[in-house]
Amino acid sequence: MTSGVSFDRSRVSDPALGPVAEKVIAGERLSLADGVTLFDTWDLLGLGAMADAANRARNGDRVTFAANQHINPTNICILRKTCVFCSYARLPKEEGAYHYTMDQVWEEAARVDGDITREFHIVGGLDMHAGLAYYTEMFAGLKARHPQVHVKALTAVEIAHIARIEKMSIRDVLIALREAGLDTMPGGGAEVFSPAVRATIADRKLSGEEYIDVHRTAHALGIRSNCTMLYGHVETHEDRVQHLTMLRDLQDETGGYLAYIPLAYHPDNNELGVELGRTGTATSGVDDLKNLAVGRLFLDNFQHVKSHWIMVTPAVSQMSLHFGVNDLEGTVVREKIYHEAGAHTAQAMSLEEIVRLIRGAGKVPAERDSFYNVLRTFDDADGPPPSHAEAA
Ligand code: SF4
Repeated sequence: MTSGVSFDRSRVSDPALGPVAEKVIAGERLSLADGVTLFDTWDLLGLGAMADAANRARNGDRVTFAANQHINPTNICILRKTCVFCSYARLPKEEGAYHYTMDQVWEEAARVDGDITREFHIVGGLDMHAGLAYYTEMFAGLKARHPQVHVKALTAVEIAHIARIEKMSIRDVLIALREAGLDTMPGGGAEVFSPAVRATIADRKLSGEEYIDVHRTAHALGIRSNCTMLYGHVETHEDRVQHLTMLRDLQDETGGYLAYIPLAYHPDNNELGVELGRTGTATSGVDDLKNLAVGRLFLDNFQHVKSHWIMVTPAVSQMSLHFGVNDLEGTVVREKIYHEAGAHTAQAMSLEEIVRLIRGAGKVPAERDSFYNVLRTFDDADGPPPSHAEAA
């Protein structure tokens, strides 16, 4: 629970928010009904004031980011036909399908500036030819070539896929991956846990309970993870809050989550976008900010809430720093998944640009490692960030 939260109550205009604001100030846990009230409100600035105060109480003015690189080794996926929101996956013989050899993975990883990149973020499709040996060879090879780089890899859905095709337990798969070099897990694959929503957008994907179970097992092994929610498609406000409740419950139980990252649905190049008549229309800036702010307020046991600038644009991410967010997606290098779905943002951002974005919001930038330890700050408010060599 976040205590010591204070803000000017006059900044909250919607009377419906009053009782929730009192709870936030008192450090009381929010109920499901409170969460729905937060999503329902028209008072975006009041919601933002509350979330900003809750974030300041935890993290002050500091905003962190990691110098990371995404690697998406295969887009071949057995759920290609049933995850109707997904623009990334392909069937094995479909145009655009790819599956990296290890040499291609090393080549992709070699694009990084060895002194700059701190983390590989590795996710892909559920490929029948990407089993345990594929990933253990990949992680061990990456660690051998880039020993200083953290490996954050494989969503709960991918872990369960490997377990299924190898006929192994989730636990044994995680142990083998950890031995090969897996450090932490990303939070993708959560979508929205509601069975009704899943039946519509991701019929054959791991259930919400199974997703939580994979993370529970990882946390028990000391493998920490992130968690997400894909919003802006067919879910209700109640579905969103029930989803957040399941994340909050697991965090109470294990404390293993590092950060919560709401993910905006992009409707281009996927079946769901056509069905909803939404192609070309991404989520609104208001809904993006609400999801981040509600995440901060409802998930009172999470230290970090991250905004994904690739999905919501750098401008909304910058504004979100006043809506409860204390962490920005990092440098990325080359993003594929959301660009297939119509994201118009850049595929990478330089350290200088991220620092400028954070400073532009009146916040204090800091580069972090994958466990959120601060690696360096940028004290010269007007100049460019120092190189690693200078900072060392
Ligand atoms: S969302 Fe993931 S599991 Fe579903 S089709 Fe896309 S890559 Fe496959």
